[in-house]
Amino acid sequence: MKTDVLIIGGGVAGLTLALKLVQHGIDVIVVEKSPHLGHVYKGELIQPKTIQLLKRLGIYEIFSEKWNPFSTINTTELNESLSPMFRSSMSYEQLPSPYNYAAMLPHSEIKQLLLNEAKSYAAFTLLQPARFEEMISENHARIKQNKTFIDVEATYIIGAEGITSKVREYMNVPAKRRLYQHDFLTVSFPAPPEMKDGQLLATKDRFLGLFPLPENRVRTVYLIRKGEFKKWRKGSLTHFYEHYTSLCPKLDGYVQAITDWKDIQLMVPIRQHADQYVKGRYALIGDAAHSVHPMAGEGMNLAIQGADVLGELLKDVYQAGRQHEEKWLDYYERVHRKRVKAIMNLSHVGGLVYEKEGKAWQKSRTLALKQLLNNERLLTKYIFNISGLGSWPFSVKDSVALMKQSNTESLQQQMQQHTYGENQDYPWKQQMR
Ligand SMILES: Cc1cc2nc3c(=O)[nH]c(=O)nc-3n(C[C@H](O)[C@H](O)[C@H](O)COP(=O)(O)OP(=O)(O)OC[C@H]3O[C@@H](n4cnc5c(N)ncnc54)[C@H](O)[C@@H]3O)c2cc1C
Repeated sequence: MKTDVLIIGGGVAGLTLALKLVQHGIDVIVVEKSPHLGHVYKGELIQPKTIQLLKRLGIYEIFSEKWNPFSTINTTELNESLSPMFRSSMSYEQLPSPYNYAAMLPHSEIKQLLLNEAKSYAAFTLLQPARFEEMISENHARIKQNKTFIDVEATYIIGAEGITSKVREYMNVPAKRRLYQHDFLTVSFPAPPEMKDGQLLATKDRFLGLFPLPENRVRTVYLIRKGEFKKWRKGSLTHFYEHYTSLCPKLDGYVQAITDWKDIQLMVPIRQHADQYVKGRYALIGDAAHSVHPMAGEGMNLAIQGADVLGELLKDVYQAGRQHEEKWLDYYERVHRKRVKAIMNLSHVGGLVYEKEGKAWQKSRTLALKQLLNNERLLTKYIFNISGLGSWPFSVKDSVALMKQSNTESLQQQMQQHTYGENQDYPWKQQMR
């Protein structure tokens, strides 16, 4: 078989890239080893930048019919008797319209919508279930489907197989990995009707995150110590319910919808970053290139955002008839790596803030949260940065800002200045003309 772009892995990264390319008549083969999309929880929070990209891809409407938009995340620190000692809110509404909200949609549905759309283009081929085995020459890959081997010749080869990437191995690109001292339990169940916002609840040694899914369900993530899942599973579910209802009494009568440990998934946070995303005609996207701590809900978003940059670049390369000039791929790394680094650091700090235990640590965390969440400038910056709409780094000016409140109008103007426009998303366009 022969194709323009061979994509190994049909996760959100691979499917977004495939869709973007086939929309422009570029021939794509996606190889996916799993026989079905799977109902594993793998990120459901769609950040504002991703919403913007779905619009650019022309698929905003099909997503917005299904997802649950929300704009507020409430944070509560509870004392030892589980009474609130600090409450605050952050809202995406502070961001410039129309990207002033986030949305929740089950991961399998996100993939299904991308796949349905890609399948409607003649240039799209899916080999599933089929596994990428090896490269037999620089531009020939060996794929195994059922018991037969298929050789695919491609101009570009993209590793989108997630955190363990064979393409990355073939490229001989190392990746730095960091594990954490905690894991998460995650499960979704019917939500109390009044639960419309995101909620983060923490004590000196516990953390529960709640996010509103469509169809009145709630996605929950509960922090546990590293390696303790086995011990939890040996205990009764009543113990599990108590952990939830003691932090959030409203969940009583709802969390009990979970009747089997099999429904509760273990989520192991990993931070991993490949030293290079691009080598010759090879590129890595999504978790194959970068995986971030899930606290800020960014992994899937970075996967989609990177696929968008690479997709636009390859589309332009083909439209300009420059597909034999390797140098253009470097633009993908130039645009995307610094964005990943910034989000990776933000997510890492978010993870550490709740990893450490103890009263003294909770006190310092509450103080830091008070400073962040009660100061409009810092809070706006934080939400703006996690939205992915742009980058507005924290600076020494922020310590001055701690002393006084900022003017909302000037914050809006400053956000505009730090927003990525199409020139920042796709900076090669001028040169390629
Ligand atoms: C438990 C969990 C919770 C998460 N929570 C969040 C969250 O709340 N918010 C968020 O934004 N992100 C979250 N993430 C991260 C997010 O899911 C990932 O960043 C995102 O899915 C990466 O997409 P991807 O397409 O790069 O990789 P994947 O989703 O891993 O897809 C890779 C695909 O490649 C296939 N594959 C692998 N090897 C081969 C091969 N040799 N041949 C063919 N196919 C192959 C796999 O079957 C898979 O379908 C979470 C991840 C996990 C695991």
